[in-house]
Amino acid sequence: MAIEQSNCIRRFVRTCTDGWEQGWHERNGGNLTYRMSPEDVQVCEPYFSLDAGDHDHQWHDLGVTAANMAGQFFITTGSGKFMRKVSVDLEGCVGIVEINAKGDAWRIVWGLRGGGRPTSEFPTHVMNHSVRAEATNGANRVIYHAHCPNVIALSTLIEPDARTWSRILWKSMTECIIIYPEGVGVVPWMVPGGADIAKATCELMKKYQACVWTQHGLFVSGDTFDNAFGLMHTIEKSAGLYLSACAANGGNPPTKLISDEQLRDVCKAFHVSPNEDFLD
Ligand SMILES: [Zn+2]
Repeated sequence: MAIEQSNCIRRFVRTCTDGWEQGWHERNGGNLTYRMSPEDVQVCEPYFSLDAGDHDHQWHDLGVTAANMAGQFFITTGSGKFMRKVSVDLEGCVGIVEINAKGDAWRIVWGLRGGGRPTSEFPTHVMNHSVRAEATNGANRVIYHAHCPNVIALSTLIEPDARTWSRILWKSMTECIIIYPEGVGVVPWMVPGGADIAKATCELMKKYQACVWTQHGLFVSGDTFDNAFGLMHTIEKSAGLYLSACAANGGNPPTKLISDEQLRDVCKAFHVSPNEDFLD
């Protein structure tokens, strides 16, 4: 078997391709990381290499410390790499990275051939893996960032406020509140790739599975690739429906959004507890 046939790599590649096909990843936009299970590591380990020549094999400072991520292995997209190319140049675009025993440094053990580096958002991803693992008792394994066009467009029209966003998204499509009953977090416009946006996102991801990055895109988490991708897709679709309805109504907000009472009825039927701060 080649490493390409392992479940974790196949699912990683599929997610990158799906995101590209949705139109979420212009040029090198977006990034994806997956925290491998012990079984994933066992399957992929025979392909790991620490020989110079295949890839950069030195330890590098992570810039942050994530103690609960010590010794973990991540599959990651590469810095400056294109999601569009992942399925045709896996080893050039994607790598497997090990975190050291202190949780403050990384090294490449597979892939990112030819001097590639993990995504420039790698420290942000690891910090958010740390927070989401804590919040979900270790269940969370995927962190995914994409430039979803409807979310970006909506963020040019409404306030960067979690209550406003969550209500619009919940009220534009019936099943949204089942998928993210806590709502979505919203990070106001910030310079990407820096420590500030990483910290602001981590703070919100203690409470939310997903965060809007104003005029930039979405940042989501999940236990599986399917759930992380599905969450991204659901939020993006709901934002698009709201925008279409506004356009069809002459630029005015839609008049027949789902009511608060109806949202409560959905929650009751599906046994989920909504964030009461966001309901009237
Ligand atoms: Zn981005």
